Amino acid sequence: MSGKIKIGPGGTSGLGYYLGLKEIKSLGLDALECEFTHGINLNNEQCKKIGEAAKRLGIGLSVHAPYYINLASLEYAKVLASKKRILDSLERAHYLGAEYVVFHAGFYGKKDKKYIYQIIKKELIGLQKIIKQKKWNSKLCPETTGKKTQFGSLEELQRLKDETGICYCVDFSHLLARDGSINYEKLLKKLPKSFHSHYSGIEYSEKGERRHLLVDISDFSKLAEEMKKQKKEATIICESPEPLRDAEKMKKVI
Ligand SMILES: [Zn+2]
Repeated sequence: MSGKIKIGPGGTSGLGYYLGLKEIKSLGLDALECEFTHGINLNNEQCKKIGEAAKRLGIGLSVHAPYYINLASLEYAKVLASKKRILDSLERAHYLGAEYVVFHAGFYGKKDKKYIYQIIKKELIGLQKIIKQKKWNSKLCPETTGKKTQFGSLEELQRLKDETGICYCVDFSHLLARDGSINYEKLLKKLPKSFHSHYSGIEYSEKGERRHLLVDISDFSKLAEEMKKQKKEATIICESPEPLRDAEKMKKVI
């Protein structure tokens, strides 16, 4: 049994879905996040088949929606386009059998953070209604972001969860880049028993995230140990530049 902590890569490092799923299985991994980060390149029928293949191999799927999303844009056309990207991702995720659709919700721009919070909350409630109408099984999962100009601190996402019932994705490296330090014991105490998450190394400045780096296994070991201590259940998606290789190393630690 792989335990209650599931590990897998973000994307298949260019292998494509079918070869990628086989590789994930042969490395003993548990999950795959399908990356629509640069565009949604699958139709519903393709998603259904990929979902069936993943199910046969016992690999859990999630989806990362496109990067170009800003639910708080002052230009309404951009908000509409953002919502379409999220909805298309949710529909594909439904056919993939993927529970979570991860996305970066938006930017503060020149506006007050509290105002942006309300705007994003309103848009997400609207999207939740559509999910219900369409009877999709996929869920909205905004991610903790790595820049101070981006909406998505842990506190904001936790408040959204409390007020709307939405899920959120904990990106550990983004939280480190955002805050300049991370204390896994304290952080995990704030998180639900079960959650979806991202992990990688990260280069950052006082402005936040610069780029994702390879995984530092000694740092990951600290996180894994604390997760076990606090009996957390989670899927951890590796978003390093070599997600398959690093996910395999992470799995060995678990
Ligand atoms: Zn992430």
